[in-house]
Amino acid sequence: MVVKTIITGNIEENCHLFWDENKHCMVIDPGDDCSRILKEISEQHLFVGKIILTHGHYDHVGAVNELKKATGAAVIAHEEEKELIVNPELSLSRYISPDFSIPEVDFYVKEGDVISVGSLSLTVMHTPGHTQGGMCLYGHGILFSGDTVFYGTLGRWDFPTGDLSKLTHSIIQRIFSLPDDTIIHSGHGPATTVGAEKQHNEVFRWSSI
Ligand SMILES: [Zn+2]
Ligand SMILES: [Zn+2]
Repeated sequence: MVVKTIITGNIEENCHLFWDENKHCMVIDPGDDCSRILKEISEQHLFVGKIILTHGHYDHVGAVNELKKATGAAVIAHEEEKELIVNPELSLSRYISPDFSIPEVDFYVKEGDVISVGSLSLTVMHTPGHTQGGMCLYGHGILFSGDTVFYGTLGRWDFPTGDLSKLTHSIIQRIFSLPDDTIIHSGHGPATTVGAEKQHNEVFRWSSI
């Protein structure tokens, strides 16, 4: 299986393409620059089965509707993110453009649900704190962490529905209980591993646990 990251938009959001040996593909967080995402899909001869949103912030969802139209793939988000996704105030898209296209979600999932495409399966981990319905996706030794945890640091908790104590709990109690060699692909910046973040992540400075 392959993970290919395309950096999109002006705040450099990571859109991840994740595909199996038969080119069956999931797209995680298509934030912007749909034409570049589609170019990669066509160059790699991928079949996109699902579009998954780790959370609803505008920088992660800007290319969803265009990509859905081009591929026919279903769009999936966490059920507790429903309200944020459709509210430009909460998703922060109203600060970008009044014409921002609100993503059309086909299915809402919850903790423990499994999302499959081809031979790929990712399990939903509800990890609130950056936003209320933020989720990570875990499978095949890989974690797609959205804006919950990054290389060396943690996501912001000062946006609507954010909560510092939930965020530190999500990282320390949930993410850090995965195997140390789990590769983390986050929403911004370079990839890392659970083991490395347990050593140097600044979440411990913010945690009262
Ligand atoms: Zn975010
Ligand atoms: Zn982001």
